Amino acid sequence: MAPPSEFTQPLSKPFNIAVVGGGISGLTLTLALLKQRIPVTLYEAAPRFGEIGAGIAFGPNAQRAMSLISPYVYAGFERVATRNQWPSKKEVWFDFRYGESCGDRRKVGEKIYTLECEGGSTSVHRAHFLDEMVKLLPDGIANFNKRLVDFAQDDNGVVLKFQDGMETRHDALIGTDGIRSRVRMVMLGENDPAAKAVFSGKIAYRGLIPMDKAVELLGEEYAKNSQMYFGLHGHVLTFCIEKGKTMNGMQCFLLSVILMHPADCSKSGRVPQPRKLGFAAVGRSCANGEDVQGLRRLGRLGQEHPQPDGND
Ligand SMILES: Cc1cc2nc3c(=O)[nH]c(=O)nc-3n(C[C@H](O)[C@H](O)[C@H](O)COP(=O)(O)OP(=O)(O)OC[C@H]3O[C@@H](n4cnc5c(N)ncnc54)[C@H](O)[C@@H]3O)c2cc1C
Repeated sequence: MAPPSEFTQPLSKPFNIAVVGGGISGLTLTLALLKQRIPVTLYEAAPRFGEIGAGIAFGPNAQRAMSLISPYVYAGFERVATRNQWPSKKEVWFDFRYGESCGDRRKVGEKIYTLECEGGSTSVHRAHFLDEMVKLLPDGIANFNKRLVDFAQDDNGVVLKFQDGMETRHDALIGTDGIRSRVRMVMLGENDPAAKAVFSGKIAYRGLIPMDKAVELLGEEYAKNSQMYFGLHGHVLTFCIEKGKTMNGMQCFLLSVILMHPADCSKSGRVPQPRKLGFAAVGRSCANGEDVQGLRRLGRLGQEHPQPDGND
């Protein structure tokens, strides 16, 4: 499919922009600039576009922003977006629940609050969303194997320097090169405290579980709609991703499980093991609840189904 004409119109602005980093931010920004007929070149360190990780949730603000950038961007998102599966939960962002019994004062799984918002909980598989954005990008805009190492600003703009020795000049540079941004480091200087990402004391473990297994373990309501379970120093959240069918027509809804546990690692500076920390915490938290017995098994299942990238 050729990119829509709104991204291939003659460019009309007397300046050009370099976007460094071709993740979700960089690609979406590049499309937004093209839509405004602004000359833009995208530089990506990797040999091709590609996403690691699985689910990413988009709130109403992000969805509105996508519509404003372009109806094609929003349509691409809609094609791969998964919402809560129950019609009655369409506008629910999360059901917040107790994940601990709080000394027998609460039933594990008891609802604390339902937070509703326009569009409800909407998530996509990152790679699928990125693919949709890539389809919209005209040829010749993205340059791969271009790792930015340095840049210098002068009265005429900015000169970008890449690892392979190439240098290019643009009127402005926008860094979308992720959490370990080289652009940010060069701009602020290596010694600036904000130049490097630092460990916040929070970690997350994720597992993906085929929906039929999740329903078997948790029941329909919990498995097919977004849930957030709070416990001591941690929380568990689950939501659906991937509404599509596999090539052989099998059901492929997946459930993403994220466990966060800030306290233990901030003291020791070590990253705890999932067995000791995340999944065990779920087990402990859930010891009293019938359905949360299922969640404990779900946690184990998550361990048994690691993602190949393992980065998320
Ligand atoms: C477990 C987990 C769950 C998350 N859930 C959510 C969520 O639900 N909702 C949400 O909004 N966010 C979520 N996030 C955060 C979200 O994933 C990131 O904020 C987002 O993916 C960042 O996108 P990006 O395009 O800014 O950066 P990236 O995806 O990191 O892309 C950066 C790109 O720049 C390239 N690059 C890097 N350095 C250079 C260089 N020197 N030169 C050229 N190219 C370079 C990289 O190769 C990469 O392609 C989650 C993150 C994690 C870890």
